[in-house]
Amino acid sequence: MILLNPKNHTRVYPDERSREVMLKTIDFFERMGKRRLKDDDHERAWYGEFLEFVKKERIFATMCTPARYGAEDCRWDTYRNCEFAEILAFYGLHYWYTWQVSVLGLGPIWMSENEALKERAAQQLEDGEIFAFGLSEQAHGADLYSSSMRLAPLDDGGFKADGAKYYIGNGNNARMVSTFAKMADNDEWVFFVSDSQHPNYELKKNTVNVQSYVSSFELHDYPVAEGDILSRGQDAWDSALNTVNVGKFNLGWASIGICTHSFYEAITHAHERVLYGKRVTEFPQVRQLLMDAYARLIAMKLVGMRAADYMRAASEDDRRYLLFNPIVKMKVTTQGEDVINHLWDVIAARGFEEDTYFEMAARDIRALPKLEGTVHVNIALIVKFLANYLFNPAEFPEVGRRDDDGDDEFLFQQGATRGLGGIQFHDYRPVFDAVDLPNVNLFKEQIDAFRALCLEAGPSRDQSKDVDFLLAVGEIFIVIVYAQLILENAPIYDIPDALVDQIFDVLGRDMSGCALQLHGKRTATADQAERCLTMIRRPEVNEEQFDALYEEHVIALSGAYAMNP
Ligand SMILES: Cc1cc2nc3c(=O)[nH]c(=O)nc-3n(C[C@H](O)[C@H](O)[C@H](O)COP(=O)(O)OP(=O)(O)OC[C@H]3O[C@@H](n4cnc5c(N)ncnc54)[C@H](O)[C@@H]3O)c2cc1C
Repeated sequence: MILLNPKNHTRVYPDERSREVMLKTIDFFERMGKRRLKDDDHERAWYGEFLEFVKKERIFATMCTPARYGAEDCRWDTYRNCEFAEILAFYGLHYWYTWQVSVLGLGPIWMSENEALKERAAQQLEDGEIFAFGLSEQAHGADLYSSSMRLAPLDDGGFKADGAKYYIGNGNNARMVSTFAKMADNDEWVFFVSDSQHPNYELKKNTVNVQSYVSSFELHDYPVAEGDILSRGQDAWDSALNTVNVGKFNLGWASIGICTHSFYEAITHAHERVLYGKRVTEFPQVRQLLMDAYARLIAMKLVGMRAADYMRAASEDDRRYLLFNPIVKMKVTTQGEDVINHLWDVIAARGFEEDTYFEMAARDIRALPKLEGTVHVNIALIVKFLANYLFNPAEFPEVGRRDDDGDDEFLFQQGATRGLGGIQFHDYRPVFDAVDLPNVNLFKEQIDAFRALCLEAGPSRDQSKDVDFLLAVGEIFIVIVYAQLILENAPIYDIPDALVDQIFDVLGRDMSGCALQLHGKRTATADQAERCLTMIRRPEVNEEQFDALYEEHVIALSGAYAMNP
């Protein structure tokens, strides 16, 4: 059982403090109880009590300070960060968000060479402060080149900053806001820290109507000393992108947490509800929806954990994480939407009720694909890896399960963000060839058909400039990488063959759906469209296997967890 169950928490940690952080966090929310959790969500109450708990227990200090800047229990450990993100979102996305934007705010700080600011950040973590990442601006969205915040040098030394930032989480409270700007004199990139409590920092409003504070703020003649500068030029640009590389991984984990809690709630409701003398879980379409939701959720978790292994193994010579990380960001979060859609079709009206976790989940799950780079932006990034992944593999040392107590320092030394198309990967084929299951075998045929399409009828020069066409190609490629990560992790977590086969029943249908999308693109050639049809497969049906999995894995979760009232 790899799904989080806070009331039966059995995850293994290399040290006692990590376990303590998770158990105390669970305990905080279970003591709060569901009624209060929901009231605070409805009232959009500031999560001061949670931040008090974080401060008292030094939770963010332990989790967010790299080993060399913190106390003995501090390290940047992607393995435990994953679970922490999962637990926070399991109880509410807003609690996750205040941590997540602290992670982002700390990115440019830990990547900086300004030791004094790093020491200050470490102390502020000990003091229970939160952090913010001031990158986005209202008018520019993903177009960072157009950033209009300016930092102007002053005659007598130092600088003054002027400009506005928008959608900045924790910008109402953080004492260190990593703020991205351009130098007014030479347009060079720069990151500096501003303080939300400074009189020249004007907090305009909360841009959203939920518990999270996603600020709009302006700096007016804001004084910045040389010592407040984190990075300049290419380093500043790289640290903006590299910070997003670290942070966006956590969005997949938020989706996993949201879907897991929703699953417990939905299966328990559906199984206990009797209509026309039958349990709702007996309707054939409900069985299919719940099985698909379960298979997708297990797959999300297997992918998230395997990608974490590669994040932790990352080095200058092994940049495979740069593909697996946006896969978690884009694919796990959109799979999360599918899981919630399936569950909502099962529980119907119950999903609207004010006392359910699900009511929040249905709203919040939508955010994760859209933040820190939209689905489109991430697919456009992922497509850059396609050629080397499919056709130009390299040898790498085997990466095992990385649940050790290592400090993932490399994430703050990622260096240049260019050259993605040159990154190589280990050969995916042996991973698939090692498995002989009916639906995995069908999937291999689908991969072969896609390879043939790429080799023999690949995108023309014009099609390569057509983002709509490329996104459709990218969707197919992503399912292949996603499937590879599942197969790599299934033996590590002892996932039974029947469940792997069932997951590939879902993936095969998804792959057929993606092929049909590409088939329908108006810019696809007749040859390409024809080849897309050769990618479509019908899953191998095994009723006995389905029935057993449904009883032993899906129905078994009915009543397995309920939050304290
Ligand atoms: C709740 C919330 C919290 C946030 N927190 C923070 C925060 O703490 N700090 C921070 O700095 N920002 C934050 N953001 C901003 C967030 O990261 C941006 O919303 C996101 O980067 C996308 O920008 P946008 O939504 O304005 O979309 P736009 O960039 O305006 O995109 C519009 C459309 O164009 C497409 N598009 C854009 N670029 C490309 C491309 N290159 N190729 C193809 N299609 C493209 C997009 O997919 C989208 O469909 C937050 C936003 C929200 C809503």
